[in-house]
Amino acid sequence: MARTRPLQCPFCDNYLAPPVDIKMKSLEITGGICTCGAVFVLDRSGHNLGEVFLDALTFAGKGDIDKAMALMPEDYETETLDYDIHTNSLRPRGGRKGRGGKLIFVRLKNQ
Ligand SMILES: [Zn+2]
Repeated sequence: MARTRPLQCPFCDNYLAPPVDIKMKSLEITGGICTCGAVFVLDRSGHNLGEVFLDALTFAGKGDIDKAMALMPEDYETETLDYDIHTNSLRPRGGRKGRGGKLIFVRLKNQ
């Protein structure tokens, strides 16, 4: 058995609730928000990271996709973590590849 870790924010180490379905303007995601201002979005398959990353940026910008598209890499911090939705825990890096979901975290700077 690989060791698992509880779901924690990669930026502030806060413990987080499991991702939930969220609708915001045209955005439909499964994710959540940390008290530090970071947002996270679940990619269930782990294969749509580009798309989900844009969703995460849009979510961080409160649903404003134009703002999300205009963001530069220096405008935000991002982390991608392997996540097991069944146990609400993070999987260690370097485990089996290509299986399971991923959580993409984004935190905008200058908020
Ligand atoms: Zn946080």
